[in-house]
Amino acid sequence: MGDKKFGAGLLDLLFPRECGGCGRTGTLWCRECAELMRDHPVQLSPRVDPGVPVWALGRYDGPGRRSVIEMKERGRRDLSTPLGIAVAGALATLERWGELGTGIRDPIVLVPAPTRARAARSRGGDPVRRVAESVREKRETGSAVARPIRVCPILRMTRGVRDSVGLSAADRVTNVNGRVSLDTTAITSMAQDCDIVVLDDVLTTGATAAESVRALSLSGIRTTLVLVLAGA
Ligand SMILES: [Zn+2]
Repeated sequence: MGDKKFGAGLLDLLFPRECGGCGRTGTLWCRECAELMRDHPVQLSPRVDPGVPVWALGRYDGPGRRSVIEMKERGRRDLSTPLGIAVAGALATLERWGELGTGIRDPIVLVPAPTRARAARSRGGDPVRRVAESVREKRETGSAVARPIRVCPILRMTRGVRDSVGLSAADRVTNVNGRVSLDTTAITSMAQDCDIVVLDDVLTTGATAAESVRALSLSGIRTTLVLVLAGA
């Protein structure tokens, strides 16, 4: 047994690996969860309509739910890779279905939905942004998406937004109303013919997605669609 393998075995013993989607031990992301997350994206009809199509990798249950919680609440940074692969697959499917433009050279620009700065800091960075970066990296190492992927983290949550955990649906809406802004100094590579995809982890009321689309459109940026990892 090589030292490296022995080291990995010892690490498994000390810190058992657990699938981020279902909790089975011995792997960080099992084949079944990968298959489930690779399934066709589903279209959502959020209570607050952002005015553009909203898609999810799946419903907020099973591996979709668990992986988002593991990533956000338990700091599982490793999950950005399998989730990035799942997002890349969903983008390829949406492209095939005609939900995205067809120009093979036109970039798909992923705009992570805004997160409260303090929440992101306490979680060691923004998990959604990490997933988006991972989609771009997967694209470079050959994924199902043929088009160039860019990541533009330009949306900001202004001060005064509370953590949405524990808020009622109505409170979630007023919580983010008019509170999403655009970092215009960071707008780069928003060329014409891009497809702008707002990416978020979970969609509950759709309020954050709607505010994100609105903030972009106020700066003349037309969102093609919203894609979330899991839809409630
Ligand atoms: Zn699993």
